[in-house]
Amino acid sequence: MTPHLGPEGWRYLPTDAAVRETAAIDASLARFQCAIESVNGQSIPAALLAEALALIRSLAAESLAIRQRYDSLFDAVPDPVVVLDEHGILLDLNRAALASYRQPRESLIGVSIRQINPSLPANHLDLVWESLERGGTHVEQTSNRRADGSEFPVEVHSASFDDHGERRIVAVARDLTGRDRAERRYRQLLDTIDKGVLVQDTRGRPLSGNAAAYRILNIPTGWLPGRADLRDWRLLDPEGRRIRLRDLPALRALRERRTIESTLVGVYRRGEGDLRWISVTAVPQFERERRDPTQVISLFSDVTELRRDYGLFQRAQSLARIGGWQWDRWRDQWYFTSQALNLLGRVGEHGKGGDFAGDSKSELLERIHPDDRLTLEASLHRVANDGDPIRIDFRLCGEPTVWLRLTGEPEGSGPLAARIVGTIQDISESKQAESELRIRAQSDNLTGLLNREGIQTELDARLRRAQPTGIALLYIDLDRFKIVNDLLGHAVGDEVLIGVARRMRRAVGNDGILARFGGDEFMVLVDAPHDPGLPIRLAQRIASDFGDRFSYGSEEFSITTSIGVAVYPQDGANAQQLINNADAAMYDAKRRGRSTWQSFNATLSRRQQDRLKIETHLHRALESREFQLVYQPQVDLANGRVVGAEALIRWHSRALGEIAPDRFIEHAETTGDIVRIGEWVLREACRQLRTWRSAGLALSRISVNVSYRQFLNENFSAMVGALLADHGLGGADLEIEFTERVLIEDISDTMNTFNTLRDMGVKLTIDDFGEGYSALNYLRRLPIDSVKISKSFLQGVPDETSDVAICRAITGVARNLGLQVIAEGVENQAQRRFLLQNGIRIGQGFLFAPGMPATDFAARLVGQSAK
Ligand code: C2E
Ligand code: MG
Ligand code: MG
Repeated sequence: MTPHLGPEGWRYLPTDAAVRETAAIDASLARFQCAIESVNGQSIPAALLAEALALIRSLAAESLAIRQRYDSLFDAVPDPVVVLDEHGILLDLNRAALASYRQPRESLIGVSIRQINPSLPANHLDLVWESLERGGTHVEQTSNRRADGSEFPVEVHSASFDDHGERRIVAVARDLTGRDRAERRYRQLLDTIDKGVLVQDTRGRPLSGNAAAYRILNIPTGWLPGRADLRDWRLLDPEGRRIRLRDLPALRALRERRTIESTLVGVYRRGEGDLRWISVTAVPQFERERRDPTQVISLFSDVTELRRDYGLFQRAQSLARIGGWQWDRWRDQWYFTSQALNLLGRVGEHGKGGDFAGDSKSELLERIHPDDRLTLEASLHRVANDGDPIRIDFRLCGEPTVWLRLTGEPEGSGPLAARIVGTIQDISESKQAESELRIRAQSDNLTGLLNREGIQTELDARLRRAQPTGIALLYIDLDRFKIVNDLLGHAVGDEVLIGVARRMRRAVGNDGILARFGGDEFMVLVDAPHDPGLPIRLAQRIASDFGDRFSYGSEEFSITTSIGVAVYPQDGANAQQLINNADAAMYDAKRRGRSTWQSFNATLSRRQQDRLKIETHLHRALESREFQLVYQPQVDLANGRVVGAEALIRWHSRALGEIAPDRFIEHAETTGDIVRIGEWVLREACRQLRTWRSAGLALSRISVNVSYRQFLNENFSAMVGALLADHGLGGADLEIEFTERVLIEDISDTMNTFNTLRDMGVKLTIDDFGEGYSALNYLRRLPIDSVKISKSFLQGVPDETSDVAICRAITGVARNLGLQVIAEGVENQAQRRFLLQNGIRIGQGFLFAPGMPATDFAARLVGQSAK
């Protein structure tokens, strides 16, 4: 049967129907043939003819029905179906095709497939036939064109069939417009999400990726699929080691047929330096019932920054040596970061580090220095119960000392927070720097020993201990150091101090902490709970070590020490008391003849108490009018005539009784009260002289003792001038006695005061000369008139050769300098004779008269003038 092309197009009958139709018609015709032959021989029965014709009619009707069924079936296919001849000429199209191409049937039948499929390459049909001849179907995606020129995507499934020796193609085109739209939406969706999505085939070859994948992997858009060869990539594990391709999460997911979750992978393309860290989750894809995945989807995000930040954070933490900790209160579970463990010295125990949980508090406390445990525990208790943030520095056990700072606060608010979190930081270095700074601030530049502040800090720290036993102080003063300093100059003085420090260091060794407490004062802090005899042994050792002479250049001299010892707690309940009492003991040692040591004792203690009492009452004595002046005559040693008077203060304390100036002047100097008291003395003496003069008593001048503290006041000379003027006296009516201490304190300012006073005509006398340390070269520069030999030298005169020698020497020097010499403490005739023999004319002493009340003195003067 030949297909025919008509205006309806080509219709091909299905084989079975065609065969049956053909067979029926053939049979019918054969019988018809026989009938005709028999008619030729024996006429055709009319009935037979009618049967044949009826059969032919029915066959024709059936054939039509079959064609109709085919047509309706053909048209019922919802997708466009076309039948092509071998060369691609359209033989037939169904209704869907006509609707899709929006063309009438007649304009398409007989035209080339290109009409509706213009994008096909020239050799397209060859390719189709090639694959059809291999058997099976041919599938391709392409686009079809409508009459108006618009195109739509199609997936075409083609099959071939033999049409009576002619090769035909039937092609079903599925309109992909809808699928494409869905796919586009899906792509858009994929492209908007921030996660990279990469689809790979079963061998790991990338098939497609979304925009984020391109961006994260830093590859050009459209690069996938095909061009991305995985071998171009280098892959790293979190530790930075190369990993093999097969360890990539996607390939593992394929191999292991399971999802591989959040795996950190470092990726970079060969020849490019840009390493990205991605966190990948790979999900294998299975098709229907298949056991093996058909592809794998990897979802990944770029954690490069995060990792860098985390890395930086970790690094910063490890550089700053900061670790973190957390304490789950209710479970008493402790969590430490690896750095925290590191700091606590735990890293070795828990492998390569990493967060460690489960440590108990007692285990933590074990690592902490026993002295700091209680404080730390108390702090933890505080943060846990009161919710107060804590910051505490503590040491770890062991050497060298590691200092850690722990901060902590409740997580969230409220004291009942379940967790306490905080940091641990190594602060050893800053502690070290701090202590170095402290040491520097607390050390003496010259000797390198601790300074006053330093030793006080040390002492305070020891007294703060829970049971401060065995603590003692040695207060050491160099005897006669001032002489060395004055005679040889400060440079040598400094050298001597360095030598002294060295010698002391040797003597003290490790038995105490040595400090330079002041100019020529040193201190040793002894901390020996189990050796109560040590402080005294040390004092003895130091004292005897200083028996040896010091030599500097050609100079050789001895410097001895006076040492006072005070022991905690009996000799002082606090640092200041201990220092004061060691000082008092030292003074006592000095008083008892230097080069010795003295423990603080009951007598000294009483003296201390006295001193306190005295200072208290002294303060109000002036207002309470408890002071009085007595006058000791100064006489011409040759004839006993009164030539002057020294005013001496007396204190009749209502509370304490009679107190000698030797007992209170020093305190008044310490407290500064002497300035007010001294001014009163001067005024009172002037007033008295005025009174006597007015009464007609002839007294050439009055001597007043002035303390060094008064000289420190720069208005002193002006005050003296005003007082004199107030009482109608001249400068020559006043003699000022001062000790050598005035010369030590501040020579340049004092010099001005001296000059002014001298200009006013005031007589200037150095009292107690020889006792102090004034170098004789001072005398040459000072505008002074006379020196008063200390009565301590006169005591041994004339029997003690040394005293005699000193007196002679002083007299000689003074005379050479043109100074007058006055003697005090003249108690007997032998002394008087000695003085006269040595050319000393003026003296005072009990031999003539003690200090007397003004009326007694006046009486004496009157008596004298009466003689
Ligand atoms: P000074 O200025 O050397 O006074 C002499 C001291 O020797 C006086 O003691 C006097 O009473 C005492 N004395 C006098 N003759 C003899 C004697 O023959 N033998 C002995 N052993 N002692 C004698 P006083 O009054 O107790 O004064 C002691 C010191 O107190 C004075 O020593 C002086 O340095 C100081 N002082 C007294 N009055 C004042 C004052 O108004 N102002 C100041 N700044 N100091 C004063
Ligand atoms: Mg005097
Ligand atoms: Mg004197």
